[in-house]
Amino acid sequence: MLADSTLIKNTDQCVMCGLCLPHCPTYRVSRNEGESPRGRISLIKAYAQGELDAGSAIQTHLQSCTACMQCEQVCPAEVAYQSILDSGRQLYRPRLSLKTRSLQSLGLFLLTKKRGHRWFKVLQAAASVAAKTRLFSSFEMLQFATVLQQQKTEPQLPQEMQSSQKVTIFSGCSADLLDRKTFNSTLKIVAALGYQPHTPQQHLCCSALAQHSGFPELATSQRRNAHEYLHAHDVISFASGCGRQLENDGINNTARHYDIHDWLQQDNKLTRLQFKPLNKKVLLHTPCSLQSKQADAMEQVLRNIPAVTVQKFNDDLHCCGAGGMQILTPQASNQALLQSKIAAIKELQPDVIVTANVGCSLQLQKGLLQANTQIPVLHTVSLLAEHLREP
Ligand code: SF4
Ligand code: SF4
Repeated sequence: MLADSTLIKNTDQCVMCGLCLPHCPTYRVSRNEGESPRGRISLIKAYAQGELDAGSAIQTHLQSCTACMQCEQVCPAEVAYQSILDSGRQLYRPRLSLKTRSLQSLGLFLLTKKRGHRWFKVLQAAASVAAKTRLFSSFEMLQFATVLQQQKTEPQLPQEMQSSQKVTIFSGCSADLLDRKTFNSTLKIVAALGYQPHTPQQHLCCSALAQHSGFPELATSQRRNAHEYLHAHDVISFASGCGRQLENDGINNTARHYDIHDWLQQDNKLTRLQFKPLNKKVLLHTPCSLQSKQADAMEQVLRNIPAVTVQKFNDDLHCCGAGGMQILTPQASNQALLQSKIAAIKELQPDVIVTANVGCSLQLQKGLLQANTQIPVLHTVSLLAEHLREP
């Protein structure tokens, strides 16, 4: 994590040209300078220099950023926006509202700690009851609980395979918990291709949630554990947010890391399998955390299913408004982004929505539930696994 002087030096790199503005999803839906990369950089700098009081709009603007990093990709001055945002959030964290701080801490505990997973399962059971009895008075809470209880699927580890190449499946701290279906589907497809899927026994986390929520020490220790274990492995991640974090942290220096779509596309692996036709419209939501090459691979992977019709969102609608822990503490721009997505979904009327990140999946499911619209949201590999023609 940056010291304050480094933070200010980094913010000074921004020449305020505004070229990033049209690429920023929160600016596009709000047309508010504070919701833009340039605005956030100015606010963080002013706050770090003691020129802004804590009660200003800085909390909303820092919280609404989805960390999609579109701004960093287009910035001609190569401003290190990610570092500035993480440092700004760390600096501001003590001034966040008690509710936001508590939700962030609870979310981190439930998702990234092994003990937390036990409590998460209790919450799932409660969610099940709540969804049936409408016990919770808060409609928002009820909706989130309903999404959580939909994630319950029992693990299905494949049998140990002899004499085949081992690949490590990195499910991160919680992707196997929040999205067990994708975890099982990944194991199934990897095994069907003749590889031996291996899942780490240790509880590993890519560190993205802690880093982007202002917990740098926790993020450092999670990163160290993950890299120590994954050292010298062939690693596949199916949650694109985890994959991006591992790659940004240099995992490729010690291990060979692949996003699942890239790995499947390499050597056209999927041509070795047969899939049942799917005569349906599948709408592709490519997460911001996928690089453009990986997003292309995602579409190509999907096209291995015969008869499928692939639909895409308009380019202006790439972000669903989730992003790390922001899903628990959404701001007006995050809600507006989700509403735009849901409106587009209603217009396109797909049969299935496919995405590659657990955060996006939960966000879209939440939006569909709010809109009383029932369309399944699956990971690409889950759709593949469902249509795999068994030998
Ligand atoms: S972040 Fe980069 S693109 Fe955006 S205003 Fe600053 S210098 Fe320009
Ligand atoms: S990370 Fe995304 S949402 Fe945040 S300022 Fe940059 S472009 Fe906007």
